[in-house]
Amino acid sequence: MPTARVDLHCHSWASDGEYPPAEVAHRAKGAGLAAIALTDHDTTDGVEDAAREGARLGVRVVPGCEFSVKAPWGELHLLGLFLRPGHRRLAEFLATTRAARWRRAEQMVQRLQRLGVDIELEDVVSGAGDGALGRPHVARVLVERGVSADMSDAFGRYLGRGKPGYVEKPLPTLGQVTELVHGVGGIAVAAHLGDHGTEGQIREVQRQGLDGVEVRHPSHSAATEQRLITIAERLGLAISGGSDWHGDTELGGAHAGLGELDVPIEWLERLEERCRQTTRARGSERPEGTP
Ligand code: AMP
Ligand code: FE
Ligand code: FE
Ligand code: ZN
Repeated sequence: MPTARVDLHCHSWASDGEYPPAEVAHRAKGAGLAAIALTDHDTTDGVEDAAREGARLGVRVVPGCEFSVKAPWGELHLLGLFLRPGHRRLAEFLATTRAARWRRAEQMVQRLQRLGVDIELEDVVSGAGDGALGRPHVARVLVERGVSADMSDAFGRYLGRGKPGYVEKPLPTLGQVTELVHGVGGIAVAAHLGDHGTEGQIREVQRQGLDGVEVRHPSHSAATEQRLITIAERLGLAISGGSDWHGDTELGGAHAGLGELDVPIEWLERLEERCRQTTRARGSERPEGTP
């Protein structure tokens, strides 16, 4: 029997994905996955629905979240895994971060308007519901309005870092987020590092609480994956992998279909074991009302 496969990085419309969380679980079942980690940007709001549907279908849903933090090269994405979504500290932190995303979307729309682009904040907001607002929501409006040919064009001309519609997010430090993640019983995995981060820099990040590295990701070449595996082995970091799926829209090489990468369930089991060990070692506080 082939080993069961998992996908430890994907998004729902709780952030910038295209589908409701329950549909993500449904698609995971369709892709033959044993488990997924739902890792929406700056929210765990989709986890409950995805987990409920997952339980019905026999797909495990690991509660996750993708945080953005400061890095020597700009921005680093950290996947928090095995989080406890109802935890008050986590909820407060994420609510503050989402409020900042809201203000930033407003600023991006203003910039675009000054450039003469026909776009209204209402369009962006209505596409996001009460989810975490991000550049993809702005990009989708640019595509709908015919300003951009597709998402890549919207990022390439307006929304990519350094482009005229781009606005920085206020970023927490890595230490702030790893401390939070550990405080709510989870582990922190560096997402899609690509060629960023020398071994020395990753060691420094590890000193600040990093538990693992996402080695398998659609943006990683085989050589990049190997480089990260080697570093993870040398530093004793856990490894992870996922598609970074956001939906059906073609987003270029940085995203793949749900379950399209080969991530064996053993990786999830090892991450979970790492989580158990570190939680025990750190004596993490338990949230109210959970065993
Ligand atoms: P934000 O967190 O609001 O800065 O938005 C970052 C998100 O935008 C990423 O998670 C991707 O989903 C998406 N994204 C970034 N660059 C591109 C791109 N070139 N094409 C399509 N989507 C992108
Ligand atoms: Fe995204
Ligand atoms: Fe990311
Ligand atoms: Zn992601």
